[in-house]
Amino acid sequence: IAGARGSTFDRKRPGNDVATNAREVALESALCSALEREEFAVHFQPQACLDSGRIVAVEALLRWNSPKFGRVAPDTFIPVAERSGAIVRLGEWVLREACAQHKRWCSKGIMPPRVAVNVSPIQLRAADFPFRVAAILRESRMPAGWLELELTESQLSHDDQPVLRALETIRSLGVSIALDDFGTGFSSLMHLTRMNLDTLKIARDFVQDLAGNPANATIVAGLLSIARGLGLRAVAEGVERESELAFLREHGCHHVQGYLTGKPEPADEITHLLKAGGAVCRGRWAPT
Ligand code: C2E
Ligand code: MG
Ligand code: MG
Ligand code: MG
Repeated sequence: IAGARGSTFDRKRPGNDVATNAREVALESALCSALEREEFAVHFQPQACLDSGRIVAVEALLRWNSPKFGRVAPDTFIPVAERSGAIVRLGEWVLREACAQHKRWCSKGIMPPRVAVNVSPIQLRAADFPFRVAAILRESRMPAGWLELELTESQLSHDDQPVLRALETIRSLGVSIALDDFGTGFSSLMHLTRMNLDTLKIARDFVQDLAGNPANATIVAGLLSIARGLGLRAVAEGVERESELAFLREHGCHHVQGYLTGKPEPADEITHLLKAGGAVCRGRWAPT
């Protein structure tokens, strides 16, 4: 499975600035033709409900397998696509693929999960983005309530009016909005007062090592209390351990997403899970 760990191309490889620029130029030019050459795939990672142990949503995660660079991690190529503007086309492709997959699940008679798609602020700044979202929903005959758009907190500014307006329009269609990697930006809490949100995704950085790190535990408990107070759905990212699960359950987290309940995988793997009832638990969800 392609993923950050299997990446053969690492942004942090040592080198001087000239070499870094040369790499970026090479990556950018490879990215340009990668869509036509069908080098991209969308994988899906389950989000499980902490009460039922079943899949309630999946996050669409873009994968690039380049003949030249091998598997490139999104953390490496998304910023390049953002700087070159290619993210607009690429992001739209992901959205269309994710919605088409939703339609496939429905047409197989499978109860579909909500589908979450990452969007870049660059996409939101294009004036026609809300219309494109509406058009894709129409094409895939997907009720808007099944779609969630994820925005990474650290990329947002709480007074970016065009982005905030686009989000309002999209939300008025019935699409949910999630704040991704919550807690990692500089103006985190301000976003909560300026944006109409549905979901808070608590950043992996805080979730990992909840048991061994009292500061993380305090922060996560606080973020969950904020989510509860504001009536937002709370999703914990990067859950890898049983102990994290127990803590999150005890503190009222709704959903979890992490290697413990499933890695990002091709749609067929998720289809198997959904057909079998959507349980990701393997016994962990026995009533306590
Ligand atoms: P994200 O949206 O926060 O996605 C979650 C990332 O955490 C994914 O990395 C996922 O594979 C990883 N992850 C999930 N569970 C665990 C876990 O238990 N442990 C660890 N260590 N990692 C876990 P991935 O797929 O490499 O994507 C990285 C980032 O790239 C994403 O972070 C998102 O910001 C961006 N990205 C990915 N696909 C797209 C896309 O289609 N469009 C845009 N704009 N950004 C994307
Ligand atoms: Mg995300
Ligand atoms: Mg995240
Ligand atoms: Mg991220």
